[in-house]
Amino acid sequence: MTAEERLAKNNRIREQGKQTREKRKSQVCRVYRVKIDISHLNNAQKERLQMLFVEAKWLYNDALTFMNDHNINGYNMAVQTVQGLDKDRLPATHELEYLGAQMKQSVIQGIKHSLKALASIKEHNHQAGSLRYKSEYASINLQQYQVTYRFYDDKHIGIQGFKGWIRIKGAKQFWNIPDLEFANAKLLKLPDGYYLAVTTYQNKGGEEKKYKPEIGIDMGIKTTITTSYGRKIKVQIEESERIKKCQRLMSRRKKGSNNRYKARKLLQKAYQRLTNLKKDIANKIVYELLEHEHVYMQDENLKGWHKGLFGRPVQHSVLGLLKAKLMKNDRVIVLPKSAPTTKYCPKCRKLNRDITLSDRIYECSCGYREDRDIHAALNMIVLSKGNTCGTQEIHAFGEDIRHLQNIAAQPH
Ligand SMILES: [Zn+2]
Repeated sequence: MTAEERLAKNNRIREQGKQTREKRKSQVCRVYRVKIDISHLNNAQKERLQMLFVEAKWLYNDALTFMNDHNINGYNMAVQTVQGLDKDRLPATHELEYLGAQMKQSVIQGIKHSLKALASIKEHNHQAGSLRYKSEYASINLQQYQVTYRFYDDKHIGIQGFKGWIRIKGAKQFWNIPDLEFANAKLLKLPDGYYLAVTTYQNKGGEEKKYKPEIGIDMGIKTTITTSYGRKIKVQIEESERIKKCQRLMSRRKKGSNNRYKARKLLQKAYQRLTNLKKDIANKIVYELLEHEHVYMQDENLKGWHKGLFGRPVQHSVLGLLKAKLMKNDRVIVLPKSAPTTKYCPKCRKLNRDITLSDRIYECSCGYREDRDIHAALNMIVLSKGNTCGTQEIHAFGEDIRHLQNIAAQPH
């Protein structure tokens, strides 16, 4: 390549990058996860899938040793053999048979980025540890759609180096989105199986979505969520018997033994299941709530609940997840902690300070009476619109309270 050709090529790449960045401004980035159906893999595919993660671990540890001993840029990106340990922890040379060039690059780049980040932290006189060797590598980057991975249809993908298509589950969640663009993906090894996490871009909005009217939500311990429509959603996931069993099993196994390793794997799997379940429930609730044009909620102190009176049930409920997900959305209006959502009477606009935690019904001298949680959920809307939370004079501006009460009375 002559100097001019190289220049032209660089310009072309720069121009493409600019165009992509421009386009991304009108798009939303979402990551979807599909599960690889290992029951449909042939033996060669299974072996390859397993070995990819083993080789990535070997490469990671070898490259880390090199960078610690020498410098971070001299490592050979096209390395074929690496030094490591065998099953009996004796020095051994490993061939990299399965990792493709791009996969190698992303493993090595990953270490470089981390080392640079650590160095920069240290430069600013902060304490920083060092990178540790990995006993397990769990995420392999597949950089380019159509090159390192591709979709055949909603049930099959191809991954660079694999012969034949690979069956997957879960592509339904995004398959019918118009103009969906695939970017990079990550091949994940989780306790309960292998996944592909696909980064996608889709156009913002497009045609106007029809939303349901606004909704207020109150979060609590007993009923997880109460809506201003009077609906109560109770979610409580107990630590499963399986987890307790696995914990007992693990504690009985000798440290460092193979059996303990196996027991730990089982435990990780059980935890993974629980996490999946929680995420799934949280996603469903968030999806339903966001069918409403605006969601009003209060920034309640979940951490305080952990430590205080209530403890465990909260940990096991999905409230934390839910809150985090909701607060990211710009159609969700969050009231400050100080807003008196339990004490304020939306009818006469008085603060009834003597309401206690044990009062399940809110009753005001003006005749207003409502279930405590529904009342709080309604107040989320009333007080947000008033926008004067925390002051003595609170007004429910512009909003007819009876209208809100009517909404509450409607079946949902
Ligand atoms: Zn009142």
